[in-house]
Amino acid sequence: MEHSAAAMADSRPLDGPPLAGRHALVTGGGSGIGAAIARHLLRLGAAVTIAGRQAARLEAAAADLAANGGAAVGWVALDVTDSAAIPAAFAAAAQQRGPVAILVNNAGIAKAAPFAKTDLALWDDILRTDLTGAFLCTQAALPGMLTAGWGRIVNVASTAGLTGLAYCTAYCAAKHGLVGLTRALARELARTAVTVNAVCPGYTETGIVTAAVADIVAKTGRSAEQALAGLAAHNPQGRLIQPAEVADAVAWLCLPSATAITGQSLAIAGGEVM
Ligand code: NDP
Repeated sequence: MEHSAAAMADSRPLDGPPLAGRHALVTGGGSGIGAAIARHLLRLGAAVTIAGRQAARLEAAAADLAANGGAAVGWVALDVTDSAAIPAAFAAAAQQRGPVAILVNNAGIAKAAPFAKTDLALWDDILRTDLTGAFLCTQAALPGMLTAGWGRIVNVASTAGLTGLAYCTAYCAAKHGLVGLTRALARELARTAVTVNAVCPGYTETGIVTAAVADIVAKTGRSAEQALAGLAAHNPQGRLIQPAEVADAVAWLCLPSATAITGQSLAIAGGEVM
């Protein structure tokens, strides 16, 4: 749908939650950053579907969100690497809560290895999940956004999508790819009312960092405290980012008033990259 003043204008009443009537699907929404994003979008009035592979965890996360005031929340089992299953999962979510107007491509895995020990299996695993997964989910959601004449796509990349990190070639390649996808699609859709942006968190206090600390301890013999301090030292503020800080930025990019913001990759990292 061609951009027009009418399509850009938000015709809904000025009072009331800004995302009321919008359905957001958050991949990897059952834990960490994704769960925080789901919570913020619910607070802004959106109906939210959280998606991932682990049904029990999603069910528990959805129940927790509902208990904390998120009335319009549900979950769907979805493996973002399973191209054949993705359309059906999106259709099931849409049947429950309406067409997906906001897609947050947050599902991701992180594994570190020196380049010489980065075999094809590790490379494929990360690229398939962190990059191709976002491509496939975007293909599933975008036609509905174009039909509706409004949409928001937010990709959770990483500072590893903006700069190089040692021992992370596959992860950096995937996240740089995600930033590239964001920029190219934003240009392609610039005359529609669908925006495409990325957020790029620095090390954030979630299960990924817990696993990274354990990996560093196992491989280097450093203590957990030393390993954690080493990760926090990437951030000039000398700390880990909190999931809610990432979620705040994602929610802002989803607001109706963020129409002019597209193709951006916003670092949430205390000045790690600038
Ligand atoms: P978590 O491990 O808590 O979250 C990752 C989520 O992705 C899980 O909910 C998991 O759910 C889901 N997931 C993984 N693989 C798949 C798959 N194949 N299909 C569907 N869902 C999948 O870590 P974070 O919250 O930290 O990670 C969220 C995103 O943030 C990731 O993309 C990560 O790269 C990015 N990020 C994290 C940083 C950090 O330091 N924590 C820093 C920068 C970026 P399930 O197991 O149920 O499938």
